[in-house]
Amino acid sequence: MKLGLKPEIKKKFIVIKARKGAGFGLKTKVPFKKGDFVIEYVGIKRKNKDIEYHTGKYLFEVDDNFTIDGSPRWNLARYINHSCRPNAEVEIDKNGKILIEAIKNIKEGEEITYDYGKEYFNEFIKPIGCKCEKCIKKSK
Ligand SMILES: [Zn+2]
Repeated sequence: MKLGLKPEIKKKFIVIKARKGAGFGLKTKVPFKKGDFVIEYVGIKRKNKDIEYHTGKYLFEVDDNFTIDGSPRWNLARYINHSCRPNAEVEIDKNGKILIEAIKNIKEGEEITYDYGKEYFNEFIKPIGCKCEKCIKKSK
């Protein structure tokens, strides 16, 4: 696998300073239709048995054997924020690739979000409170 940020990815997305407290986010410069492939969550493939702590912020468990360590900065998908009302979702294909797909029509300039799942939510988000648009509206 060739490492590094691919130019076609750089053209499509921009890393932004997200809403207060949420750190960074990923915005798209191009529109997507519902069902479209958006971006791949890339990183360093590691064997689960070699990883001591299975709960790391950018560790993405693909199956019983492998985890993708998505912490490198060329993995733009790591900047995608969690949302309880997301516009994308994660699909793991038969080759173990982590693909992010649109579940709604996404306009140019919109932030890409997906639901990180219960385990991650309880571990990392719940303690500080969810900062997604839906939850912020609710708490106002
Ligand atoms: Zn939320």
